[in-house]
Amino acid sequence: MILKKKGNNRGEGFLREALHVIDNELYRLPYSTTKEEVNNLKKLADKALFQCPHCNAKLIVKYGDTKGIYFSHRHSEACEESKKIDQAEKRYIRQIERETKIHHTIQAILHDEISNQAKKNTMIKVEFGYRAKPDLKIFPDIWVKVADREFALSIITNVNSLIDNKLSNTISKRHQYFLEQGMEPIWFIEKKEQAIEKEKNSIILWDAELTIAAKTNKDREWDSLLASLMKDKMFFKYFNYPVSTENITIDVRSMYYIYSNEERIVVKIQRFLKDRLVKPYRAFLLGEGYEIPFADAVLIKNEFLLSNPTLEAHCQDEFVQEFKQLQFEFKERLRIEQERKLQEEEKREILMQQILKQEEIKKQQLIQQRLEQEERHRKILKQVSEQKLNSNPETTRVSSYDSLKSLLKERIGLTQSQQMELWTTFMPVIGYKNSDVVWGLFVKNDCKSFGELKIVLQNFISKQSK
Ligand SMILES: [Zn+2]
Repeated sequence: MILKKKGNNRGEGFLREALHVIDNELYRLPYSTTKEEVNNLKKLADKALFQCPHCNAKLIVKYGDTKGIYFSHRHSEACEESKKIDQAEKRYIRQIERETKIHHTIQAILHDEISNQAKKNTMIKVEFGYRAKPDLKIFPDIWVKVADREFALSIITNVNSLIDNKLSNTISKRHQYFLEQGMEPIWFIEKKEQAIEKEKNSIILWDAELTIAAKTNKDREWDSLLASLMKDKMFFKYFNYPVSTENITIDVRSMYYIYSNEERIVVKIQRFLKDRLVKPYRAFLLGEGYEIPFADAVLIKNEFLLSNPTLEAHCQDEFVQEFKQLQFEFKERLRIEQERKLQEEEKREILMQQILKQEEIKKQQLIQQRLEQEERHRKILKQVSEQKLNSNPETTRVSSYDSLKSLLKERIGLTQSQQMELWTTFMPVIGYKNSDVVWGLFVKNDCKSFGELKIVLQNFISKQSK
């Protein structure tokens, strides 16, 4: 039979932990246990194995259906300190009510991992948040002290889109609170909350994500790496990232997403360069991130490692490679584009010259034609005046086109259409005022029809043009 603790109700000192007097270490009661185990623990307590870590009083083990298994001071009320911690634990239990079962598992692993490290390194101290600092309003899940630095480790589970905004607020407030209390907050968030614009190499962040993003030594390494790469003013252009400001401050941050499967818990480390500081928050993504076992993430070397040096180096190397590749591609595209433009310009230039040349030829041809036309006209006019001089004095003088028209009508029955042909085809060449020349030719050649007259006139004109 499994007996499960359901939570405490009154402040009479339900201690979960006691000092093991022989091994001189804290003994923590299991969260769930069997009836046999409860009886066994009671026996151990009766033999004075456990004492209060605060007042050193002997403790006994009790069990209640609603309270679960707990330590209690022997005769009287609990001491002040244990009562305070008891109260703190109750508040802590309320604080983590929203979390899922995995929260407890991760917290336990986190505590074990760091406790193991603390055994080998006296600089490290670790405790559950509510026990280390029972006076706090909000507790970190785990409190860790490394030399002079205090860390507040928290695990956030049960993240979903419905509560994200509210949760973001809560997390931001806690983050600030831990800082005010002299602790450096470190957050692990269950479930991937990443929202990425891949083609822009950007990550869109919740307020909380931006607030809780950590700044570790590895982030500072990235800072200096970026400082050198960003000397290239086109840096963000290569990644197609629309940077929000010209003079961006190089400030790399990291985020730790927790995944769990049946076998183990892993942390995905994702780094980004802080950029847009108004909602919606956007940051420049630094690689695809990588996963490491949870135990590796919480290794302490002066501070929490929160990375794997080999994978990190690989990640940085890949980023630099990508940068170089993109830089090359960008410059290559630019070069091809410029070449294309140059070729187009050359083509246009050649075409332009051809057009100019053709226009010049056309112009020359026109001038030539006009000259020839003028020459022809001049010759015709000369011929016309010669014809006038040689004309038979007996021939009736024709003073106007009208009289020519009526004479031709009389002689050869000139029709309206023949008259039009004479006016539009021959008169412009012979001269509108030279109707007498036409008449002279008609008489001289003894024309019998308009057809004959046309032949005479054509011959007259073509003779002059040659
Ligand atoms: Zn006590």
